Amino acid sequence: MLVAVSLTLALQHLFIWLIQARQWAHLALSLTALAVAIMIGMEYSGMRAANVNQLATILRWVHLPFFVTFVAMIYFVRHYFGVGRLWLAWTACGLRLFVLVINFTTGQNLFFKEITHLKPLVVFGGETVVIAQGVLNPWYVIGPISILALVVFVLDASLMLWRKGGGAGRLFVFNSITFFMLAAVVHLGLVNAGLLNSPYLVSLSFMPALIAMSYTLSYDVMRSVKLADQLQASETELRKNEQRMALAISAAELGVWEWDVVHDEIWSNDKGRALFGIPGRERISFSRFLGTLHKDDRALLKCRVDQSLAGGGDYEGEYRVVLPDGQIRWFTTHSHLEFDSHHCPLRMYGVSIDITQRKQAAQALIKQGNKQTHLARATLLGELSMALAHELNQPLAAILSNAQAAQRFLLRKESQLCEVQEILEDIIADNKRASEVILRLRLLLRNDEVQYQRLDINEVVADVVKLVRFDLEGRHISITTTLAEQLPTVLGDQVLLQQVLLNLILNGSDAAASVSHVDQTSISIRTCCDGNVVKVCVGDQGPGITTKDMAHIFEPFFTTKPHGLGLGLSICRTLIKSHNGQLWAENNPDGGANFYFTLPAYFCERR
Ligand code: ADP
Repeated sequence: MLVAVSLTLALQHLFIWLIQARQWAHLALSLTALAVAIMIGMEYSGMRAANVNQLATILRWVHLPFFVTFVAMIYFVRHYFGVGRLWLAWTACGLRLFVLVINFTTGQNLFFKEITHLKPLVVFGGETVVIAQGVLNPWYVIGPISILALVVFVLDASLMLWRKGGGAGRLFVFNSITFFMLAAVVHLGLVNAGLLNSPYLVSLSFMPALIAMSYTLSYDVMRSVKLADQLQASETELRKNEQRMALAISAAELGVWEWDVVHDEIWSNDKGRALFGIPGRERISFSRFLGTLHKDDRALLKCRVDQSLAGGGDYEGEYRVVLPDGQIRWFTTHSHLEFDSHHCPLRMYGVSIDITQRKQAAQALIKQGNKQTHLARATLLGELSMALAHELNQPLAAILSNAQAAQRFLLRKESQLCEVQEILEDIIADNKRASEVILRLRLLLRNDEVQYQRLDINEVVADVVKLVRFDLEGRHISITTTLAEQLPTVLGDQVLLQQVLLNLILNGSDAAASVSHVDQTSISIRTCCDGNVVKVCVGDQGPGITTKDMAHIFEPFFTTKPHGLGLGLSICRTLIKSHNGQLWAENNPDGGANFYFTLPAYFCERR
């Protein structure tokens, strides 16, 4: 039965070794198992030997498989577990080789100089076996010493493994080898000293070690099979994901790219190259990519990418690309940047999408919107006509009276030319004022496309205040401004922003005028910088806004005024939104309402 077990193990590990040729531990184990099977077979035959010579021959040749087992076990420990001192391994193997030499050169075998007779022995189950009796070979002590050397090697190796934190299963292999080898030494000693009547059963000591070694190796095989299964499953999943991703990328017509920042080389899929008009094999550097951009967009994109590389987060933006045939396409790009452990940028990767159609549609909408804005401006101008009349009245009256005075002077004989000169200068100054007023109002009437430019919001406020001050004074409403110094500029259309301010001021003056018991009231305009935005507040001392109305005042055609249109605030909100800003209203705790709007500060060039 034990021979069958050993041979099965030997074959099993031989097959594994044949499949996985580099795993020499399996060959070592296979050899150990085969040698143990032979030893068991020989010991069994020895117990049933018919005569002295037969037993002597068996006891002589059994040392050969023993030697193989011995060396294979040492190899297994060193090769598989990677522990054990080499010199101890060589010492144990050397001693065992010496034993083999003694076995074949002195006496009949290692144990006996001469076997004189066979002694029958009744063992378990009433079966009779024979054991050798005769003159002992004094060299036989080298045998147990070599086994003790093996034990020392294994113990030392197990200590090394324990210090390395080797698992309990592995230490179990070492303990089995140590324990059963010591048992073999003791058993041999007792039999040879004549204290124990027993046949030699050294092979039995190898069985548990063999099984423990096989268990460890088989466990590893099982684990690697399981890992291989898992790997295969995740590879399949990965492949599926790749296919899904490829499908999504081609369906969405995405340009996928990756920029090796260190070597300044950009990889892009075929679609990306086609979108940017770069031929298939051409090397793409960052400057080559910049070269494909519309010249007006290059500086801004470079500035944003530089900010990203300096640790300013991922880059997202829109820009135009000029294709080799002169066609202009719009793109939006979303990208992510990776840094190494020293926070140096390594690579940037992302996707670019052609949004030309969307942009064209948006531009058509803006044109449409411009027409509506024009209408709205005209409506507002209706309300401004009073202001205009007042505004022009004063310089025109001054011009008239100055011109009449000049006439009178010229009629006099003793007229002095220098006085006439002064009057003419006054006329010119008044004329200039009048044409300035007309110019500003013409600006509001024009139906130009929206012109974004860098603006100082304080200047916009000052311009509008000039325009309305006279009208408000006529209604006993004063206007105060608190303008923050060194405000960042904003990107916007001057005329549109003037329109927003005008509407808020006129609304405020309407609200103030509706409070009849107040003789003198004022409208305040404040500007400040709030983080990344410039904030403007127009406040009045009117009745404020009721909670019910607050929810509706920005809706088109909502008005509480008898002759109101209810379009002003909704248009203002649209205009501010088109500037990426916000417009909202709050009631002032001291009475009146405050209207706020914010616009993003334009920092880029200042950095
Ligand atoms: P209109 O001025 O033609 O009524 P708006 O859209 O400019 O249209 O204003 C809508 C409504 O919001 C006004 O009718 C008024 O009820 C309210 N409103 C606007 N500004 C103020 C303000 N400063 N104080 C109180 N209510 C205001």
